[in-house]
Amino acid sequence: MAPAPSSFYKNIPDLPDKISYKKKKPKLIAVVDSDNCTGCQVCVPFCPVDCIEPAPKERFNVPIPPVQIRYNECIGCQICSRVCTKLTWDAIRMEPTEKVEKLAGIQITESFTPPARPA
Ligand code: SF4
Ligand code: SF4
Repeated sequence: MAPAPSSFYKNIPDLPDKISYKKKKPKLIAVVDSDNCTGCQVCVPFCPVDCIEPAPKERFNVPIPPVQIRYNECIGCQICSRVCTKLTWDAIRMEPTEKVEKLAGIQITESFTPPARPA
């Protein structure tokens, strides 16, 4: 029997009250499967560090590009993955940080401080 709507939505995280920043290098990082992602952006407001954004249109020959993660800002909370799996297309995987560093050719830092905004 299909679950009642209340139980289905029970595991959906709340939207963050405020945006925070990485204080510790995570063990896992979110990676978007761009073949599965529709670019719906449902996951975007759930990210507690606001590090999910639409990918540049030039990289994809489609009207709505998928989203991408700014890897160095991700805290590995898995919220986007849970939201995408539960509400949309199951297009986000949590991958070991070391693997992402090797594949993307980047070095993930221990913490992240956002650049100061102009006054
Ligand atoms: S919720 Fe899933 S399908 Fe929608 S933009 Fe985010 S990753 Fe892509
Ligand atoms: S795992 Fe958490 S911090 Fe990383 S992109 Fe997803 S919601 Fe944002």
